[in-house]
Amino acid sequence: MHEYSLVSALIDRVETEARSHGALAVARVRLRVGELAGVEPDLLRTAFEMARAGTVCAGAELELVAVGARWACRGCGREIPAGERLACSICGEPARLVEGDELILERLEMEVA
Ligand SMILES: [Zn+2]
Repeated sequence: MHEYSLVSALIDRVETEARSHGALAVARVRLRVGELAGVEPDLLRTAFEMARAGTVCAGAELELVAVGARWACRGCGREIPAGERLACSICGEPARLVEGDELILERLEMEVA
């Protein structure tokens, strides 16, 4: 499953960060998960619980911050409300995604010796 490879990449990254800060363990991992990131939060949690054993994340809590999709006009920058057609009603330009497709490691809480 897609979520398992994401989580294993995430844990690798957290281990690198933790090591560079001399941390012994990570208490909390906060991820921003976009609505359009193509990630299922429940699967992500399950994958994290399975993958963290024996890593610096073994005792870490996974916090997921849901980020809704936001669109704006490519031309004038007007924000396009959710549920509207994905094109600007003023200048007719197509919409671009402002946020909502991200999967970002936002914050780490580490235990440093
Ligand atoms: Zn526009």
